[in-house]
Amino acid sequence: MFSSALISRLCTVIGVQLRYSFRLYPSAGQRTALARAFGCARVVYNDALRARETARSEGLPFPKTGKLSKQLITEAKKTPERAWLGEVSAVILQQSLRDLDSAYKNFFDGLKGKRPRMGAPRYKSRKDTRQAVRFTANARWSITPGGKLRLPKIGDVKVKWSRSLPSVPSTVTVVKDSAGRYFASFVVTGPAETLPEATPEIGIDLGLTHFAVLSDGTKIDSPRFLRRAEKRLKKAQRALSRKEKGSKNRDRARHKVARAHAQVADARREFHHQLSTRLIRENQAVAVEDLAVKGLARTRLAKSVHDAGWSAFVAMLEYKAARYGRTFVRVGRFEPTSQVCSACGMQDGPKPLHVRVWTCRACGAVLDRDTNAAVNVAKAAGLAVSAHGAQVRPGPVPAQRGEAGTHPTPQPSTAR
Ligand SMILES: [Zn+2]
Repeated sequence: MFSSALISRLCTVIGVQLRYSFRLYPSAGQRTALARAFGCARVVYNDALRARETARSEGLPFPKTGKLSKQLITEAKKTPERAWLGEVSAVILQQSLRDLDSAYKNFFDGLKGKRPRMGAPRYKSRKDTRQAVRFTANARWSITPGGKLRLPKIGDVKVKWSRSLPSVPSTVTVVKDSAGRYFASFVVTGPAETLPEATPEIGIDLGLTHFAVLSDGTKIDSPRFLRRAEKRLKKAQRALSRKEKGSKNRDRARHKVARAHAQVADARREFHHQLSTRLIRENQAVAVEDLAVKGLARTRLAKSVHDAGWSAFVAMLEYKAARYGRTFVRVGRFEPTSQVCSACGMQDGPKPLHVRVWTCRACGAVLDRDTNAAVNVAKAAGLAVSAHGAQVRPGPVPAQRGEAGTHPTPQPSTAR
């Protein structure tokens, strides 16, 4: 399928780390083996955390990972209490210690102010919503000629390959989510792809009435598959609230809600992927408003509903732009994008949310609120966009005189 020599050469030139996730369908026996693997990885993690916390409370030096690996994996396997650690791949246990290392590193870096503060590492529980184990190349996992995922001490697991991998992955993480579904997440160092040159440059306004509005006038709403998933989730939540506490039915309903949540998350991610890929393909440069700045203008409710989705979407735009050699601009400082006429630059003051179309008092252009904001985002980013998209009607003149108020004389538009 791939020439590995070619791939490794490309990867050293342009290494882009990408993650590819696929649904897994383990058999009953494989599910038991995976449960054992999750359990062993968790026990080693917790043992190591306990060893370090004990050392700290006794004023002893921080135990090194090599020492913990020997003590909590190699030696522990020889004791009756931990003999069962031998039933799983040793690599996932090593990787579990690595995870603890990075949890500590993030925690200490936070204390030193190198990154946002994080809590200290915490004990893992069987009840955690997400269970995961990681197999590196050392574990000798593979993809069989029949397209199954061969995992050491687990077996050949059925995979639903929804797209092809750009190169041979080195690591696979097997995840079980809160809805009881299994996924394989591959890390691939991929060669950057090149896209044909595209001329358009575009500004995007992320809004409440539409998911996104483009500076060329295109309005994009959530697709039907996402709205349907959201509807199913609401229904499941209502059903759950009607179930008696502690009843078996309530357990079942709770499971349904978890599934519906996962489906909404998946549908949303799929939509973000489709849209971000399309925008990056079709445009040479893309500009969005910084969400932290945008958030200031919103109510807390609106923020909580939309911001999570937006930042995931913007992150996709950013990495895809980097990957395909497109320009990505985040408009950082506060721009009153919905108050300025994109045709003549006049600042017209704030407008209540229900005002969807307004007329510029200076040049008479009739502007679509959202598209006008998108054009202003693009302009603030220094992109070459036309203001035409924002105009429901350009302002040809004498007819507008009455509305134009204090600026009766039309001014030449900068953008035309
Ligand atoms: Zn104007």
